[in-house]
Amino acid sequence: MTTPYLSIVVPVYNEEESLKALSKRLMKVLKDIKKPFEVIYTNDGSSDKSIDILKEIQQQHPEVRIIDFMGNFGQHMAIMAAFENCRGDVIINLDADLQNPPEEIPKLLEKFEQGHDVVGSYRLKRSDFFLRHWGSRFANWVRGFITDAKMQDQGCMFRAYSKQIVERIVDGGEGSTFIPVLAWRLAKNPVEVGLRHDAREEGDSKYSIYHLIRVAIDLATSFSLLPIQFFTFFGMIVSTLSFLLVMYLAFRRLFFGPEVEGVFTLLAIIIFLISVAIMGIGIIGEYVGRTYQQVSRKQRFVIREIIETTKKKGTK
Ligand code: UDP
Ligand code: MG
Repeated sequence: MTTPYLSIVVPVYNEEESLKALSKRLMKVLKDIKKPFEVIYTNDGSSDKSIDILKEIQQQHPEVRIIDFMGNFGQHMAIMAAFENCRGDVIINLDADLQNPPEEIPKLLEKFEQGHDVVGSYRLKRSDFFLRHWGSRFANWVRGFITDAKMQDQGCMFRAYSKQIVERIVDGGEGSTFIPVLAWRLAKNPVEVGLRHDAREEGDSKYSIYHLIRVAIDLATSFSLLPIQFFTFFGMIVSTLSFLLVMYLAFRRLFFGPEVEGVFTLLAIIIFLISVAIMGIGIIGEYVGRTYQQVSRKQRFVIREIIETTKKKGTK
């Protein structure tokens, strides 16, 4: 088998209902492109039959390689593991749930071949629950502000990357990260293209509100110190204001006698300040946690096995 030109990377977490349909549509598109390719599925600790179905798919298509994780390490780590093992010149990432239609791959490829090292994408018409949609719009705006990566839609994973970009991402060795933003920052000549986004037909979104918030915090803290700097700044303003308030109250007390009615106002202010302090400790904790992870060199993910039909010598 020749070295592939195209590597398709698909993270899989409990997607037994979609995998066969995905593979069918994907293979048709890839065969029409008429370039050597490989498809890497990372099974991110699925508890359903995903792994068996992947093995079945592999029986029919020798271009398929499976990275089987020991547990659930998250979508970005699933992609990272595939990045470490892919061989193509162009690497395209898509979701397993068919929300990213494989038929759009030629559009990404066309832009890539015009000389762009990262081809991002934005969802032309988003097919998600409206709260999720607006939540993600807001998150996009905050991310854009914090990470200084000016892209339209950071949440959409359907993207193409050059081999060099992927190598640099792998070399970076980051633990909790957000691949589209990382790539965008490394890119010399990035571009974005609008792609179709379908509704999830089978199964449920693998992201709970908790996971979404986790990803947003990782994103904010892995690319900048802005959150913590903002906090310091905010703390300075609030302490100045509360100092002025204390002065004012002391003045009142001395010249007009003690005031009783204001007790609840004070209580409110105190509660507010305490909550601000708690949030601050939390933010500090995020950075301490990151430092801990880097220092202790915790493994980002653990691979049980890489399953290939044709074992080749001399490849990674
Ligand atoms: N995914 C994963 N590990 C996880 C969560 C999700 O590999 O812990 C995969 C999932 O199988 C899918 C992709 O990441 O291929 C996107 O997940 P999902 O469709 O649930 O996210 P949404 O479209 O709701 O953002
Ligand atoms: Mg999805």
